[in-house]
Amino acid sequence: MAGSRYQYVKKFELPDPILPGTFMVLRIDGHAFHRLSEVHKFAKPNDERALQLMDHAARDVMNEYKDIVLAFGESDEYSFLFRKSTALYNRRQAKIVTTLTSLFTSSYVFNWSRYLPDTPLEYPPSFDGRIVVYPSQKEIRDYFSWRQADTHINNLYNTIFWALVQQGGETTTQAHAILRGTVSGTKNEMLHSRFGINYNTIPARYRKGSVLVQERVCSLCSWIFELPPASSDDLASTAGETPGTPQQPEQAPSGSSKQKASKKAHALTRIELHHCDIIGDEFWDQRPYLLAE
Ligand code: ATP
Ligand code: ATP
Ligand code: MG
Ligand code: MG
Repeated sequence: MAGSRYQYVKKFELPDPILPGTFMVLRIDGHAFHRLSEVHKFAKPNDERALQLMDHAARDVMNEYKDIVLAFGESDEYSFLFRKSTALYNRRQAKIVTTLTSLFTSSYVFNWSRYLPDTPLEYPPSFDGRIVVYPSQKEIRDYFSWRQADTHINNLYNTIFWALVQQGGETTTQAHAILRGTVSGTKNEMLHSRFGINYNTIPARYRKGSVLVQERVCSLCSWIFELPPASSDDLASTAGETPGTPQQPEQAPSGSSKQKASKKAHALTRIELHHCDIIGDEFWDQRPYLLAE
């Protein structure tokens, strides 16, 4: 069908592809969450309910987009790593950023009352999103190290800051002044001597952030090879409803029933939440597929 005489304006929409063969990281960050956390009286320094809500929204995004292999969250932000060869939306930048950021936001709002049942949402929150492209595994490792180091630096500062205010009776201005120019050793020492807090006993969620991994479970579940060939619908019907539920296979199986079962098992993944170190080698050595093609 011929278009209208106005249709030429469509030509002004230029392609915005992301370079093939590169790693994509999408980082989503809450807009003005300093204010959002005050208006909704988040516990300081860390409101666990709000962090769990962020984890839930991130999990929803990973359930919908299976090319995301890893996500890392702290405070009001989440970073998502796509498998290197992803062809999601033909790697169109705006399409990916806007669709995933809006899914994250709507999940955050949709699930708010589950995590903060006594705190009505006072206004619609929003998140910004950006994609950063990295050429090699080294930058991806360094990117996630950067975010986790940031988690630690912020958490140490916020922990001592709020101890000074809530237990030490300092004003927020005084607390900032006391901490200005201090190194981490001094902060640790102050936490211990003045407030009896051993930083290392603070929950790992606050110190390490949240690590959501698309774990490959086949090697853990040899029993799955004994299963009768479930249809992909059986798996899809439960996918993502419960944390840790096995997910739909990535590829349609073919061949005999037995082959079908093993192929399905081979592709099974499930999203798991950890609060572990991702700066050292161990996490990555155990999961070489995260940085593979
Ligand atoms: P911007 O729009 O530039 O991102 P922002 O106000 O969101 O501004 P951030 O640097 O992103 O600033 O910091 C987010 C702030 O939200 C934190 O400093 C903290 O005050 C608050 N916050 C986010 N999550 C929590 C939480 N779970 N518990 C307590 N406070 C939180
Ligand atoms: P994409 O994700 O590529 O945008 P899409 O399915 O959203 O795919 P669009 O080209 O955006 O496709 O078209 C939106 C479709 O949604 C319309 O074709 C129509 O079928 C449906 N739709 C949207 N709003 C209405 C509405 N108010 N009433 C009935 N149908 C609607
Ligand atoms: Mg923010
Ligand atoms: Mg932030």
